[in-house]
Amino acid sequence: KLGNETVKAELGRATWKYFHTVMARFPETPTEDQKEALRSYIYLFARLYPCGECAEHFMQHLSKYPPQVSSRNAASGWACFIHNEVNAMLDKPEFDCTNLGEFYDCGCGEDDEEGKG
Ligand code: FAD
Repeated sequence: KLGNETVKAELGRATWKYFHTVMARFPETPTEDQKEALRSYIYLFARLYPCGECAEHFMQHLSKYPPQVSSRNAASGWACFIHNEVNAMLDKPEFDCTNLGEFYDCGCGEDDEEGKG
């Protein structure tokens, strides 16, 4: 468990950036295998998140709002929603999920899109 609030916040920002970027690159029409990979990833991500109390809270959110993995839109929208749940818990403003569009561009082009998931 990280004791320092500044370090915890930095870890959070870096992690959210990565988490939302994964969703933004998830296939628009994933195969069953890709859906299962994302679902497993999300549960393991939660379980292994380095801040123990955060991991515990996040796993509670997950059991209430299971991962949506049917498409890129579903996954991105779900991730935005669950981040907003964490925002609410921490008294942070709600993020407008209709603004997700280009926000999480990984700068990696479209060429390797089919290899993702
Ligand atoms: P962050 O919440 O880190 O967000 C970073 C940026 O993402 C924002 O500036 C905004 O541009 C964008 N953003 C904001 N909301 C959304 C959204 N809904 N969808 C997409 N983009 C968005 N901290 C604790 O103190 N206690 C906890 O229990 C806790 N649990 C956490 C669980 C997880 C899984 C993660 C990843 C982090 C957790 N954190 C927790 C850290 C916390 O969520 C923040 O990351 C940290 O407090 C820094 O907040 P911030 O205001 O800089 O913005």
